[in-house]
Amino acid sequence: MSGLIPPISAALLESVVRGWRDLSTRLVQLGRDAPEGGRGVFVNPPVTRGSTVLFSSLEAMEAAGHNRYGDELIYGAMGSPVQHQLEQAVAAIEGGAHTQVVPSGLAACTLPLLAYLGAGDHCLLSDSVYGPTRRLAERVLRRFGVEISYFPPLADEAALRALLRPNTRVIFAESPGSHSFEVQDVPMLARLARTAGARLVVDNTWGIGLFDPFAHGAHVSVQALTKYAAGHSDTIIGGVTVAHVDDWYPLRDAAIQTGQLAGPDDCWLTLRGLRTMGARQERQAASALAVALWLQDRPEVARVLHPALPSCPGHEYWKRDFSGASSLFGVVFDPAYTEADMTAMIDGLALFGIGASWGGYESLVLPTTGGIARSCPSITHGGVACRLHIGLEAPEALAADLARGLDGMSAARHLRGKG
Ligand SMILES: *Cc1c(COP(=O)(O)O)cnc(C)c1O
Repeated sequence: MSGLIPPISAALLESVVRGWRDLSTRLVQLGRDAPEGGRGVFVNPPVTRGSTVLFSSLEAMEAAGHNRYGDELIYGAMGSPVQHQLEQAVAAIEGGAHTQVVPSGLAACTLPLLAYLGAGDHCLLSDSVYGPTRRLAERVLRRFGVEISYFPPLADEAALRALLRPNTRVIFAESPGSHSFEVQDVPMLARLARTAGARLVVDNTWGIGLFDPFAHGAHVSVQALTKYAAGHSDTIIGGVTVAHVDDWYPLRDAAIQTGQLAGPDDCWLTLRGLRTMGARQERQAASALAVALWLQDRPEVARVLHPALPSCPGHEYWKRDFSGASSLFGVVFDPAYTEADMTAMIDGLALFGIGASWGGYESLVLPTTGGIARSCPSITHGGVACRLHIGLEAPEALAADLARGLDGMSAARHLRGKG
């Protein structure tokens, strides 16, 4: 079994783990107080629960209410000390100035759209955005008079310019797409947004710690902290980060007015998860690359959609802009295989859980053909496809599990050919 996975070139391996290693050192220090004078502090910021905050005078209460940065104790609905510590940590990881922590990754996608769009505005979304972001646009934003349209994730600058409208106020990208894995040219999108007087919002969940959204021109970065940050598939939480105060005020206002906050226990779990994110991901990214390379050589597989490999659309942007890779990638099967073949293969896997989400310590599989709405006809995979999330299991064991499944899949196809 140990011979299943061929050796990986040192340079390729380094290209996927480098960023995680650099991040690990910072993750130890972020979002916690240093001991000061004679006062000791716990290593991990404790859970702080509360609704009412008491002040020594009305004047002191009023002064706290004037704080617009969101890091003062005013009332529990406006954040707690542990939420503020998580916000500081996420802002530092993203390279931004302020983070608003919200109760889910989807709320993190929702908040900037509510903050920056109004009736009569136009929002241009990447066709690769994950389903709930699209449904928010279709079912909620349209109802409030926002115009919605989609762009092919790898459209060039001229094609994109033609899709801008005089009222375009937000361009929303998800790079790489969490189902279809196109890596987007974020600096180009940022240039276009600026000429249009729009804000560029990037869902940077896959690229947490590996892609610096603000150095590449984004105005806003969205994180489903549920994934790698929390890291143990036991918390739902999100964060929205900005680099500039002009982007912060409307975002913070929208958060307060819609009652967005994350529970202190979830903030605490996420802060705790963050400490080991670099170590987990250094291992998971290396295993994911190994499994992806192994799959690439299987006859049943037409194409592996792993951003670090040239077979992934937009690989050149990954190479230019990212300091590493995550452990989530796609697999497209040879067109000879049907949805039913893939379903039987997935149902038979022993080590891959079948379930939504990703970013935990465990391996997962999910079909990505069918069920995913697309507006631009340019995205077709040719064959049926699935998404793999690689966890902390031994990559040889994962490959052996997949080998059994793929062997069964091709045997079923040969039988069909005879019958
Ligand atoms: C999972 C996910 C979200 C939503 O996160 P939840 O915490 O599950 O709401 C948003 N964006 C991307 C890219 C995701 O994968």
